[in-house]
Amino acid sequence: MSLPVDCLFCQFVNGTLETEIVGQNQRAIAFRDINPQAPLHVLVIPREHFADVATLAAADPAALADVVELAQEVAMDEADGEYRLIFNSGPEAGQSVFHVHGHVLGGTRLGWTPA
Ligand code: AMP
Ligand code: ZN
Repeated sequence: MSLPVDCLFCQFVNGTLETEIVGQNQRAIAFRDINPQAPLHVLVIPREHFADVATLAAADPAALADVVELAQEVAMDEADGEYRLIFNSGPEAGQSVFHVHGHVLGGTRLGWTPA
């Protein structure tokens, strides 16, 4: 697990690095994925650093609720509220950044080919 000081997404939260913030609430921010896989591809993250969604759920359920609420808001704004919310957990599942993030995907009819 990356230490927060080295964490790319923590740097978006604290403003050390710039990104296009498309939404935020008390405990979460949303920004565009740099390599979009759908017309809507936004990442929603808690402001606080946790490695994965299960760790976040156990440590701060209110922050997970804010992450989900923000995903819904972005999808309402950009994809008529129809979207997929994916949390990759662990390298085998495709996780490459170890600050928990939900992928908000939509804006087209989505396929289903995860493996
Ligand atoms: P995952 O593979 O589930 O950990 O997702 C990490 C996501 O972060 C990938 O979809 C990347 O395209 C995205 N990503 C990596 N670097 C950046 C960045 N600088 N700005 C926005 N998204 C990024
Ligand atoms: Zn972080």
